[in-house]
Amino acid sequence: MSERPRLTVLSGPSGVGKSTVVAHMRKQFPEVWLSVSATTRHPRPGERDGVQYHFVDHEQFDKLVANGELLEWAVFAGNRYGTPRQAVLDKLDKGEPVLLEIDLQGARQVKESMPEAQLVFLAPPSWEELVRRLTGRGTESQDVIDERLAAAKVELAAEAEFDTTLVNTSVEQVAAELLALLGVA
Ligand code: ADP
Ligand code: 5GP
Repeated sequence: MSERPRLTVLSGPSGVGKSTVVAHMRKQFPEVWLSVSATTRHPRPGERDGVQYHFVDHEQFDKLVANGELLEWAVFAGNRYGTPRQAVLDKLDKGEPVLLEIDLQGARQVKESMPEAQLVFLAPPSWEELVRRLTGRGTESQDVIDERLAAAKVELAAEAEFDTTLVNTSVEQVAAELLALLGVA
C-alpha cells in the first residue's frame, strides 16, 4: 500500500464551494482536521472566532508574522490570511492528515517549504456558475465580488500547478473524492 501524503492543500477561486465541500466532508467524518487560519477579514454572519477563522486585527496579524508563527500567509482581496504553524506541525508529528484551505499564493508557499504536500485545485463547472455562486452567496458587496472575480481569473490560470483538479459539480461527489485523496475513506 502506498503511503498517503499527509498534508493536503485545497485551493480554488472564491465562491467555488471549498467551505461547502469541506463542511460536508467533516459532517460525515468529523475526525478530518482542518487548520483554522488567522485573518484580518471581518466575520460573516454566523462565523465564530476560533471556528471558521481566528479573527484578528492588523496589529495582531503583524505580531503573528513577526514572531514566525505562520506557516504561510497572503493578502487576498484586501485582507490578510495565514496558517498558524504550530497546530499543523503538531498534527503532522502525530502522523495525522492535515487539510489546509488556502489561496493560490499560500499553496505556492507550502509547496516551496513542504514539497511533499499534495495540492488539490477545486474548479467550477464553468465561469458563469462561479459568478452565480459567488453572487448568490450574498455575503459580499459588488466591489468585493469584483475583486474576488479578478483574483479568480489568476487562480484558474494556475490550475496546472496543482497535483489534482476536482470539479465541483456535486458537493457529495467532490467530498468523496477529497476524502479518498486524504486517505480517510
Ligand atoms: P468558497 O468557500 O470556495 O468561497 P462556498 O463554500 O462559500 O465557496 O460556496 C459558495 C456558494 O456556492 C455557496 O452559496 C454554496 O452554497 C454554493 N455551492 C457550493 N458548492 C455548490 C455546488 N456543487 N452546486 C451548487 N452550489 C454550490
Ligand atoms: P474567505 O474570505 O472567502 O473566507 O477566503 C478568501 C480566500 O482566502 C480563499 O481563497 C481562502 O482559501 C483563502 N484563505 C483562507 N485562509 C487562508 C490562509 O491561512 N492562507 C492563505 N494564503 N489563504 C487563505
